[in-house]
Amino acid sequence: MKRYFDYFRSIIFPDLCLFCGDRLDEFLAVICQNCLLSLNYTTIAEIYQNKIIDRFQHIGNLNAAYALFYYRPDNPLHDLIAQIKYQGKKDLALTLGQSLGKKFKSIAPNFKADLILPIPIHPKRRAERGYNQSYEIALGLSEIIEIPTEDLLLRLRHTPSQTKLNKMERLANVKGVFGISKSDLPKLKNKHLIIVDDIITSGATLLECIALLNECGAKEISIISLCIAFEL
Ligand SMILES: [Zn+2]
Repeated sequence: MKRYFDYFRSIIFPDLCLFCGDRLDEFLAVICQNCLLSLNYTTIAEIYQNKIIDRFQHIGNLNAAYALFYYRPDNPLHDLIAQIKYQGKKDLALTLGQSLGKKFKSIAPNFKADLILPIPIHPKRRAERGYNQSYEIALGLSEIIEIPTEDLLLRLRHTPSQTKLNKMERLANVKGVFGISKSDLPKLKNKHLIIVDDIITSGATLLECIALLNECGAKEISIISLCIAFEL
């Protein structure tokens, strides 16, 4: 009976690892355990004191910060992120969000916050891609750490690629790019908010988001990112 079930399942659902093509054991998984283990994990073992906290410490109300992976060109993760962003692999974003949640929960089991806010992409890009990858990551995280997520942050304009800009130019590039609908303000005021990103690069985007949330009266801010592009 199980064989028939497996047979039909394999027709209906793809059950090969998205990265290496090996058969997947876990129902509805998208990446195999071997590939998941081969990714470049950060060694962050403390969410209140680490190099991400150091980098953003000038934000007075920063509570915790965490990233699961280093983002390096020579790692399978680079391909996985590309699949999420450009090949419509929405489920993969959710799966990686769950992995992020499991690791985060293992090092900070008593962590509490009010709301998870994913970094938004521009509506035009969202329409092209069909989803916001950071929202999918946030959903996976939310499921595991049991803190709700809402797509409340708005991206008011499309920003040109940041890759060729220096730090000051990056900050100027994202100035005023985010907004919040007035009716959502009560959800943020005096709350501990978690910002979720796919990759922290220069931090310019995060800083702009944090500035907005603080204008909205946030009590505390935490940062949880799937990847981080700089060395810790
Ligand atoms: Zn694999």
